[in-house]
Amino acid sequence: MVAASVAPWFSSYVAGAVTATGEVRQPRNIYELVYAFDHTFAGILKAEELKLVRTRSPEEIKETHPQLYERISRDVVGWTDEWLQDVRKSIETVSEKRLSIAQRTAEQVDGILRNHFAGRGLPYRRMQVVFLPPRLFLDERNRGKLTMGMFIPFYPDAFFVAVDWPAPMELVLVHESLHFNRTGVRLGRPLSEGITETATRYLVLRYGLLPPREVSRTTAYASERKGVDLILEEIVKRTARSRDEATELFLEAYLTGNQQGMNNIFGVESWERVIKLSLSKDGWQTHKIKQALGN
Ligand SMILES: [Zn+2]
Repeated sequence: MVAASVAPWFSSYVAGAVTATGEVRQPRNIYELVYAFDHTFAGILKAEELKLVRTRSPEEIKETHPQLYERISRDVVGWTDEWLQDVRKSIETVSEKRLSIAQRTAEQVDGILRNHFAGRGLPYRRMQVVFLPPRLFLDERNRGKLTMGMFIPFYPDAFFVAVDWPAPMELVLVHESLHFNRTGVRLGRPLSEGITETATRYLVLRYGLLPPREVSRTTAYASERKGVDLILEEIVKRTARSRDEATELFLEAYLTGNQQGMNNIFGVESWERVIKLSLSKDGWQTHKIKQALGN
């Protein structure tokens, strides 16, 4: 356990994890760091500010409450950078060889995505990835969940990826890059993860980043993808689009927040119902999605 460190830029609260005994300590992994943000903000923000933070995306808050965004983002960036410095000092570092392989892969993926986005007329942010040792990605509250990449809300400039994990780095980099390039409103988590992972697999195969058998061996976000598959099948059924074109259309709705394309296919009300399902607890189930689409 690392001794508690007091963050000098913040007078009353530390972005530290609080243990059962109320002791504050350095977050041991990136999840503890993010949980600690929430815990800290719960203690210092006004009730209505906290509600915004928990229900709106950082992009929306930036738009509607720019000062609140600046305040939160400044703290999140400060705490995260400080934490990164500390963990780099106190833990085993990533091997040079692993790191250079990872960086080469990141450059390759970045080039492919840049061209792909340009071809679709979508804005693209150059990949900024921080590689960290895998043990910093151990989510103790969700043990068993295989997570290899992380995007920290209100930390706008980079995302974080485990450098040495038995899952293909190509999938992780594309997946996190898609989140990184989302500019629109926040949709429900299962919809967001489902379309992100489905589009990731499509892009990885399309550009030959991995052989198909390696992609199909990975089971990430299986239940989230099931709901997305159903929606893609419906798009194919109702329009002259191929499955790949349907994937592109859905991905763009996720990235830009512009639902016009989906509205045109399903009707505003039906599509709105699907988005609501993705925001509700246990809503993301194929029979419910089918019903919402009016089948
Ligand atoms: Zn994700």
